[in-house]
Amino acid sequence: MLFTEMGLSPAILRGIEALKFEEPTPIQEKVIPVLKHKSCDIIGVAQTGTGKTAAFGLPAIEAINTGVLHPQLLILSPTRELCMQIAADLEKYGRYVSGLKIATVYGGASIENQIKLLKQGVHVVVATPGRIHDVIRRGRINLSGITTLVLDEADEMLKMGFREDLDAILSRTPEKKKTMLFSATMPPSVAAIAGSYMRDPVEITAGKKNESTQNVSHVYHMVHARDRYNTLKRVADYYPEIYGIVFCRTRQETKDVAARLMHDGYNAEALHGDLSQSQRDHVMEKFRSGNISLLVATDVAARGIDVNSLTHVINYNLPDDIEAYTHRSGRTGRAGKKGISVSIINLKEQGKIAQIEKFIRKKFEYRRVPGGSDICERQFFSMLERMRNSDVDNKQINPYMDKVCSMLEDMPKEEIVKRFVSLEFNRFLEYYKEAPDLNADRKERRKSTSSSQAQKSKNGSEMARVLLNVGKGKKVTNRDVIDLIVRAPGARNAEIGKIEIYRRASSVEVEARIVKNVIRELNRTIYKGIRIEAEENYEFSGNDYRDRHKGPRGIKRKVS
Ligand code: ADP
Ligand code: MG
Repeated sequence: MLFTEMGLSPAILRGIEALKFEEPTPIQEKVIPVLKHKSCDIIGVAQTGTGKTAAFGLPAIEAINTGVLHPQLLILSPTRELCMQIAADLEKYGRYVSGLKIATVYGGASIENQIKLLKQGVHVVVATPGRIHDVIRRGRINLSGITTLVLDEADEMLKMGFREDLDAILSRTPEKKKTMLFSATMPPSVAAIAGSYMRDPVEITAGKKNESTQNVSHVYHMVHARDRYNTLKRVADYYPEIYGIVFCRTRQETKDVAARLMHDGYNAEALHGDLSQSQRDHVMEKFRSGNISLLVATDVAARGIDVNSLTHVINYNLPDDIEAYTHRSGRTGRAGKKGISVSIINLKEQGKIAQIEKFIRKKFEYRRVPGGSDICERQFFSMLERMRNSDVDNKQINPYMDKVCSMLEDMPKEEIVKRFVSLEFNRFLEYYKEAPDLNADRKERRKSTSSSQAQKSKNGSEMARVLLNVGKGKKVTNRDVIDLIVRAPGARNAEIGKIEIYRRASSVEVEARIVKNVIRELNRTIYKGIRIEAEENYEFSGNDYRDRHKGPRGIKRKVS
């Protein structure tokens, strides 16, 4: 069915055309004709991103009589951000409806100003339940002319504790009106609201055909919990054009992750409940305009954020509530574009992936965390692509070209290219030089559970033991051992465990993930005139040292 076949007015159709909506989404196709031709209440169940706003918004705007100036359409929605978004959408639908007035009423902003606007006269009010209840209690809104009431994201409003406000508001609106309730899920609490306040509602579901989920691929990386952050960085670096939301479980986590990303030079910012409203608006504005490429958010803060063209959703931690996963991943893959939902999990969370797979009826794809060379390659390609596509302003550049060319005259083309590329990439190459493999795969799991020698540090890191061919005989101290270890790439931030100094050897525990780097580095070190030789060894213990005639494998010693 086409929009033009739904009986919508020319003004609304023009608005749709300006929005470049080609055809209705499944929920729109089902809801709009019912609203146009019948006068019944409606319950719409559909996932995020299925186009519910237009489903109720187009016919509701059309039903407004702009000849009289009082509230006729009241839309309740759980958050300030959603209210603003819905109002902005309605403005667009009603662009060619002359004189249409829409007001938003939500907490965290001046109630006096909102009341003032209401007093000037509006047709549509988009509100959060708490604040509008407040306005109603103060007697500052005339509800007698309400003909349509919409409860958007009803499940979320109830989860946020708006039950009492909803009861109060619903009982104060006129008996004779059309009520529409939209919700991603139908828990008993939502059914109860519908039961008390709706008359023979028609239930409309459009879950399965959700175009957005079809365009999302679900991917997971498996790493040790302590490598989550580094994995996130790898993902961000692997997709130079990334534009996405990083989901965390707690406010604190969003703050930490965002702070680290910013510190590491990414365009990232946190969105969470501790921010003031104006700070939140500011962050959202920057994200919408693309000045932030990674928005680090909690589920609640990100609720309803409608930003199209997100390339990725990253589950820094999986949500506790499986259903929340669908809300998260539904933020990408919209408007016909492909999206990727990446989950960073640890070994223990494989079961959760299986649960989510069952719930969303789609398989996850296991992918290895990109390694340093994968990332550098991607970055190279992306830069070359950008170079190819860059605009050259001949007028600006030409005056300098002679001079530039003469300065580079003696340099062959290949050399010039190499140097320009290096200029851009040296930091990258340096950072990813010998970057450790972050993957924690099943093989490693078997090893860590079957090998009784594998040690765990206090923080739960997998530890490995390194043996060195220098000991008390060379006056080696704990400090010396640490100095030797931290030269290795990645070792500076890694844990160092127990250190033991024997007569002719020492042993030190380091995090297993860096042990290869440590050994490689040690084996090319000369310390106090001695060529260091090192190897990984679990079995060896100081007690049996005296009985052994050979130190670490391959290092021949004289019997002492
Ligand atoms: P929901 O409320 O179901 O989460 P929205 O109403 O916010 O979804 O719509 C999600 C996105 O899809 C919005 O950016 C909206 O502009 C876009 N959209 C809605 N309907 C259509 C359509 N018929 N064609 C193309 N895009 C649409
Ligand atoms: Mg919505």
